[in-house]
Amino acid sequence: MAIMAPKVHKLLSADALFALVRKALSSLGDHRSGTPDICLADALMSAFALFSLKSPSLLAFDKERTEDNLQRLYGIKRVPCDTSMREILDPVEPESLRPMFKQVFWQLQRGKALETMVFVQGHYLLALDGTGYFSSTQIHCASCLEQHQRNGTVTYAHQLLGAALIHPDKREVIPLMPEPIVKPDGASKNDCERNAAKRFLTKFRQDHPHLQVIVTEDSLSSNAPHIEMLHEHNVHYLLGVKEGDHAFLLQQVTQAEQAGRVTYYERQDAATGAHHRFRFVSNMPLTASHAALRVNFIECWETINSKVQHFSWVTDLRVNKGTVYRLMQGARARWRIENETFNTLKNQGYHFEHNFGHGYQHLSVVFAILMMLAFLVDQVQQLCCPLFQASWAKWGSKRLLWEKMRALFYDYALDSMEHLFRALYYGVKKSAPILDIDSS
Ligand SMILES: [Zn+2]
Repeated sequence: MAIMAPKVHKLLSADALFALVRKALSSLGDHRSGTPDICLADALMSAFALFSLKSPSLLAFDKERTEDNLQRLYGIKRVPCDTSMREILDPVEPESLRPMFKQVFWQLQRGKALETMVFVQGHYLLALDGTGYFSSTQIHCASCLEQHQRNGTVTYAHQLLGAALIHPDKREVIPLMPEPIVKPDGASKNDCERNAAKRFLTKFRQDHPHLQVIVTEDSLSSNAPHIEMLHEHNVHYLLGVKEGDHAFLLQQVTQAEQAGRVTYYERQDAATGAHHRFRFVSNMPLTASHAALRVNFIECWETINSKVQHFSWVTDLRVNKGTVYRLMQGARARWRIENETFNTLKNQGYHFEHNFGHGYQHLSVVFAILMMLAFLVDQVQQLCCPLFQASWAKWGSKRLLWEKMRALFYDYALDSMEHLFRALYYGVKKSAPILDIDSS
């Protein structure tokens, strides 16, 4: 019986995407004057390679930097040393990295891979959530958030608003350009997640004017000004609500129930043994102060093996017995931004919370964004590359896969990422070490 060898996706292979990112980086203007030894694109692509290879530190990466696989696979002409990389990248405006995310996104559209992420009727689920990745009382830069303690000490921190297309039936996420939460130049006040969301939505609509999305967020975002902002940017929403924070809304739901306006629906899933009970009602005022703002309310009790979990959300999407189950699945997929994005970056080999270098201006933010870009390319491989999927299945865990990938990268002369994935999948023929014999 013939065995089908796993293939790579022509448009969306790691090699194709590295070339795309490299080309887009080459078009960025260098902030330095004259003709520097190492061009900006090489420095940025080297940092991208650092995260793509999941090197544990810049020093570990630096030790291997003479390896010519970096030149061949990542298209880097000259790799800077660790100090030089930090110096070149520190003044880079984080916003200048946005086109790389757009390029990969468009390639996903061209390669027909994005449509596999559609949630309902041409709409994608877009999860937004903030996370911290750096905190120190010693190290800081011009863009650090500052927390002044009563005893006079200051805690410096970096956070970002992450954004990713998610799908309830898929582990993969498609991260978009994140919005850094930083102290703006010269500002005395810290930035906050809500302001970052405002900036994010404006830029999101500029980047993707026609993309139909349903934003999912936690219950902190279920407030009138934020929902009005979502409306202004022509996005739908599916947001968590909490009893303690949304007492007015829940009183209105109780009144609607007494008036017989609430609909009930139950569903038993034979395959999982889960039982779902829903209660929903449309056209509810969210708060007393914004009575004109109407939301549709969904409540769900899930029972599995006598264990009951309770959830509630508000949405502008139509809720009925035909849609409520799918909406529940979409709303609960929100955890993928935490689990499959932030936790993967923090605990699955990317070292998101490691300080690769902080810099004085933007270095910490630039590194975080390039790491997200490397993660995006990896997620595309996971979503569309049969050869990557087969290699991952062979090694069982991501951690082991990255470890084996790095070992091959440093030990063998490779032609391409496809060559590397093939070596991961099929194995390599071991050769005896070549020893330098001292003949003196
Ligand atoms: Zn900082």
